[in-house]
Amino acid sequence: MPVELEAFRLQTREWLAENCPAGARGPGFIPWGSQKMPLEGDIALWLTRMAAKGWTVPTWPVAYGGGGLSREEYMVLQQEMRRIDARPALTGRGVNYIGPTILEFGTDQQKAKWLPRMARGEGGWCMGYSEPAAGSDLANLQMRCVDMGDQWRLNGMKIWTSDGVYGDWIFCLVRTAPDKPKHDGISLVLVNMDQPGVRVRPIQLINGNATFAETFFEDAVADKDDLIGPLNQGWGVGKRLLQYERSVHGGVNTSGAQVEQKIQSLADIAKHYTGVDHNAGAARLADSALRSRLLTLEMNSRAYALTQQRIIAETQTSAPSTATSILKVKGAEFTKERAEVLQQAMGSQGFGWEAGNAFSAAEIEANRDWLTTRAVSIYGGTSEIQRNIIAKRVIGLPD
Ligand SMILES: Cc1cc2nc3c(=O)[nH]c(=O)nc-3n(C[C@H](O)[C@H](O)[C@H](O)COP(=O)(O)OP(=O)(O)OC[C@H]3O[C@@H](n4cnc5c(N)ncnc54)[C@H](O)[C@@H]3O)c2cc1C
Repeated sequence: MPVELEAFRLQTREWLAENCPAGARGPGFIPWGSQKMPLEGDIALWLTRMAAKGWTVPTWPVAYGGGGLSREEYMVLQQEMRRIDARPALTGRGVNYIGPTILEFGTDQQKAKWLPRMARGEGGWCMGYSEPAAGSDLANLQMRCVDMGDQWRLNGMKIWTSDGVYGDWIFCLVRTAPDKPKHDGISLVLVNMDQPGVRVRPIQLINGNATFAETFFEDAVADKDDLIGPLNQGWGVGKRLLQYERSVHGGVNTSGAQVEQKIQSLADIAKHYTGVDHNAGAARLADSALRSRLLTLEMNSRAYALTQQRIIAETQTSAPSTATSILKVKGAEFTKERAEVLQQAMGSQGFGWEAGNAFSAAEIEANRDWLTTRAVSIYGGTSEIQRNIIAKRVIGLPD
């Protein structure tokens, strides 16, 4: 390792040891900028310190609130944070999706207006892409955006708005030229959710969470300056944003901060439920079927983690291109498999729903997590759609 990088590692280690408070280590809440969820204690302190250092968005330019780190330095920072089990100080669609998109397509004024505040976690962002008749066929979206001279006027609805209940801002793909072919009349615009023309109606998820929503726009307005990328060419900009999203789901995000935390060993949890085979010399899981499934998952996950590291190191731009679709599909499979293996290990104890004597908090969480993971192969574009992209754009098969 080059001497400068080794020096950077030591400085980083020292800084993290001094500045990462106990309450920002281990599993726990990671802020995503929502002003409707006030922060306190160690979580607030960690965000303030990391933002001042530019490490909420380590690879963004310093001028826009970033740390200006190289890809190699970013990886060192990740390793050092993992070493002490530090949580990222900030996550969400601001730093991870729309921020990098503005960095790539925004004007200098837009970058100066939006990026520093995103880096400080000032504003929780939602994603306004899907509509009732525009999911996989996203280009069919109908939400209208009309030029009113000094503002944009918006009418229509979005659906499946994650975190809609707590969102402050939403980036929307909208139709600005209804007479043009459907891919040509779309633009990407930033909208304040705290205005009379925006209404949010919660939808309860299967895991019991109700921060998900339908979002209605009834003569809502947006600033004239807040259209990102060229008018009517938002389809390309919006697709690029999806690559940033998929790079997060695929674990290769280098634009914001990759949320990567130590996870408890599945084998340790499983031993608690199924017991160990003492005759095997070293204590190993008694249930051989579970043991074999777990081992396969463990081996594949490690190989996948190495692939992620290699892709991060090799990627020249801030998000890998169509390769993100491969990682999105595989990442979703591992996430689902992990949740299923945990349920298999817990047996009937893995089906707890409500706190009480019968189930521990961890068991209830495992069940709700398992339900949550059903969605990972749907959001950000379904696995079937990713396979279509891989076939056409990666392998080059005909349409
Ligand atoms: C938990 C969760 C969070 C979400 N958060 C957001 C959000 O914050 N913002 C947002 O805008 N959207 C969000 N979504 C919506 C998500 O992007 C869509 O659900 C997804 O794109 C699929 O669209 P759809 O639900 O309309 O399904 P459809 O497009 O109707 O698809 C139904 C089925 O048909 C298959 N299919 C469709 N077309 C093809 C094809 N051409 N080839 C092969 N198979 C096909 C699909 O794979 C799927 O299995 C979220 C979804 C979930 C589940």
